[in-house]
This record gives sequence, C-alpha cells and structure tokens, in this order.
Amino acid sequence: MNNPTSFDAFLHLADNAHPMDGVMLGENGIEPQVYEKIGLLKTCPTPFQIECTLCYTLSRLVVRHDKAMAFCPNCGCWFEPYEEQLKWWTPCFEPVLRSLYKGFACKEQTEVLIPDYLWRLGRSAIAGQSRVIYVVQGINDMRMNGRIIEKLPENKVSLLLVLGTLPEKEKCGSFDPDKIFSAGSLVSLEGDEIHVDTTPVKKTLEMLNSLREAKKRGPGKNAKIGDLQVKLKNRLLSLIHGVYTEIEHHERLGTVYKFHEITQKELAEQFEVDPSMVSRAIKKDAELKLLFDIAQNRDEAYNKGKRMEKNGY
Ligand SMILES: [Zn+2]
Repeated sequence: MNNPTSFDAFLHLADNAHPMDGVMLGENGIEPQVYEKIGLLKTCPTPFQIECTLCYTLSRLVVRHDKAMAFCPNCGCWFEPYEEQLKWWTPCFEPVLRSLYKGFACKEQTEVLIPDYLWRLGRSAIAGQSRVIYVVQGINDMRMNGRIIEKLPENKVSLLLVLGTLPEKEKCGSFDPDKIFSAGSLVSLEGDEIHVDTTPVKKTLEMLNSLREAKKRGPGKNAKIGDLQVKLKNRLLSLIHGVYTEIEHHERLGTVYKFHEITQKELAEQFEVDPSMVSRAIKKDAELKLLFDIAQNRDEAYNKGKRMEKNGY
C-alpha cells in the first residue's frame, strides 16, 4: 500500500460528507483550489456561525463596516475571521463516478438511486461476466445505512464500490461482502486527472470464480473416491505381484503356497473406509475392477505378477 495521499483523505470525506472551510480541508492535505478545479469540491454558502480564531467558540458572522466580522460570546469581543474561514466547500464525487464509469467501460446510463449517496453506475463486462456496478457514499452513516441497504439488490453478482471506509458486514445487508470493493483502491489522482485501475476487482472476481469451480469439482465424494481408487490400484498391484513372488518362493523351497482371495471388506479395513465406498470405487473404474478380479484368481494373479516382474515392477 502506498502512503495515503490527499486524494485518499478526500475520498474518506465520503464517510460523512459535510461543508468544510479551507482550514479543515488544509488539515486533510487537500488544496481547495486544485480540487475545485477538478470538480471534486463545490463552493457552498458560508455558514452563519464560524469558530472564534482564539477560543474556537462558534461565533455569529456579520458584515460590519463592509467587512466580515464575528462576535465571540466567550471572548466578548469582535474578531476578523481568516480568509480560509469564509469560503466553504462540499465534496463532490461526480468526477470520481464519471472516471469509474469510463474505467469499467460501463454500459447503460448512470442512475441516481439516492441523491448524493447511491448510484447505479452501469453495467460492465468483467472477469467474463456482465455485472451491474453500484457506487455508494455514506454507507457507514447510521442515518443512511438502512435507506441504502433497502435500495441495494439482493442478487449475488452485482458489485458495490464504496467511497470512503468499507462497511462492516452487518452494514452490508444481504449484499455479498465478496463483491464489495473500496473505490479508493481503484482510483488515483494524477495531476488533475482521476485514473482508474480495475485490476483488483478483476483479480478478486477471477479468484472467486476459480474457487467456485474448485468447489464444484471437489473435494467432494468424487475426489475422495478418486483418491481411494488410486490407493486401491496400488494396493492390488502390490498384492498381485506378491502372489507371483510367493508362489516362486514356495516352489523353490518345495513348500505349499496357500492363496488368499482378497475381499472388499478387507480392503475397506486396510484403508479405514466403509466397504460400500470400496464397492463403489471398484464399480466405477474398469481398470480397478480388472485388477480386483485378477487379485482374486490365483493363476491370473501369478501371470500378471510375472509380467510385472519382467517389466521391472
Ligand atoms: Zn473566542
């Protein structure tokens, strides 16, 4: 993560966007003139009360002798406000929305769902799917959260870009938290242009897609059966080869070899699985079935074992 920039600070104003004067914006590293030029700040009327320059008490602002003056009830005197105290701005996220619209190559017109708070940005083709993108501001605001959630869709495919701090899970309603992204992680301010990089969203969606695919394939019953089939094959091959070497051994010594027919129950015990699973594993795999049949027949096992020995088993 890069060092937070003044633009990051600006985007966080979305948590609780309210009019600010030059002093407050300056404290956030935001140069009002620069941001106003880009359209990220809009001038708004100076409030009737401003803070006393000495004690910060709210003081009534009046025009006195053609000058803006304020009377501090705490200090009991008139004071002349700083120039930065007289000009006020409110953050405006429209340029960010326009850049996101372009960055995601959106189709369909942006729709305002709640003025200043919630937009249906448009539809975008991303990570192989068509997604509707929503942008929200003030989702963490207690007064707005309910209204916002009410307007959000309940489907699991739409995306939500959050201006400001990402919401806690309980503030997302039924919206899928996996599909919620910080708009701040996608946009950056370079000169007076807002750049958009949709890669983080794309990568996340691709990862979610592949996880979903993996879930579909396994590690369910099929993966377990597949695993067992491999183990059973290896076990039967070793048994079959064992039959050959045992018979050879007994013949050399002139002793009697007693052939044992392996059962599915025994195999199940060896692998600590249910016999029905061994039965299913064998039924579903022709090669395994053949090996199992061979392992149960003394002569066939001997011949197969002999061929295995020849082939360097
Ligand atoms: Zn004062």
